[in-house]
Amino acid sequence: MNAPDRYAVFGHPVGHSRSPWLHARFAELTGESLVYEARDVPPGRFETALAAFLQAGGKGLNITVPHKLAAFAAAEKLTPRARRAGAVNTLALTPDGLLGDNTDGAGLLRDLQHNLGLALAGTRILLVGAGGAARGALGPLLDAGPSELVIANRHAGKARALAADFGADGAVSGVGLDEAHGPFALVVNATSASLSGEVPGLPGDAVGPETFCYDMAYGSGPTAFMRWAQVRGAAGVADGRGMLVEQAAESFTLWRGVRPPTDEVLAAMRSAD
Ligand code: NDP
Repeated sequence: MNAPDRYAVFGHPVGHSRSPWLHARFAELTGESLVYEARDVPPGRFETALAAFLQAGGKGLNITVPHKLAAFAAAEKLTPRARRAGAVNTLALTPDGLLGDNTDGAGLLRDLQHNLGLALAGTRILLVGAGGAARGALGPLLDAGPSELVIANRHAGKARALAADFGADGAVSGVGLDEAHGPFALVVNATSASLSGEVPGLPGDAVGPETFCYDMAYGSGPTAFMRWAQVRGAAGVADGRGMLVEQAAESFTLWRGVRPPTDEVLAAMRSAD
């Protein structure tokens, strides 16, 4: 019998990663034979670790902080969505070489539209943050056809620069946090503020009873941003676990050619936390 195909996630730190558990569940549910591990790869060591992994027969990787730009540079080919995001979170060894993809934005949209049932066409959306996660989400969010998308960031210049990069793809503008005035149908928190228990300094009218608030961050229990939104009477709140599961499912589909079911995996993850 052949040895199972090998996959891994490279990051630093990576000890907290849920990816090995997710991909093991996907493999079980689809009957695919694979092994998946987490590798702590310090900054500056990505290329060496990638070469060693491929040399040992590795078939594909997930890439997380801080290596998404290094993975973008290492890819021999890029999917259009990876090129648009300017970052790679998935590498796949293909007959044409090492393919770089970015599944973060697709994972977010799948969670918003399919799992949470949100209709985004013709609505006003606020994207908070202008880092890697915001950039990955921006193209897919604009593809959903909002009437307007506002990017708000602590350093407003980064929000304006990001909006300028995507200006051809829809009605998008960049502002400082205190200039993000509602009403919005959807506010997506793509900052890392929740990771330190903080909330971006948005104006009080950014969130109202018509606003759904989504935090890409997640932990045990509601994040600081979700609690802040609930106090303001938001229509609904969600954390980023659905996005995590859906982006992993997109990577699995690219590698194995079969889409794993995500509903029960997400439910199991929520009940375990
Ligand atoms: P980056 O470091 O690239 O960007 C961080 C962003 O957060 C910047 O816009 C920064 O603003 C802003 N920020 C940080 N602290 C604060 C604060 N206290 N108040 C206001 N703004 C703040 O991070 P990423 O884009 O890679 O990740 C962002 C978040 O998304 C993280 O929480 C991450 O865990 C989550 N994520 C979740 C995924 C999922 O699958 N659920 C996938 C990918 C990311 P400034 O530019 O002004 O410094």
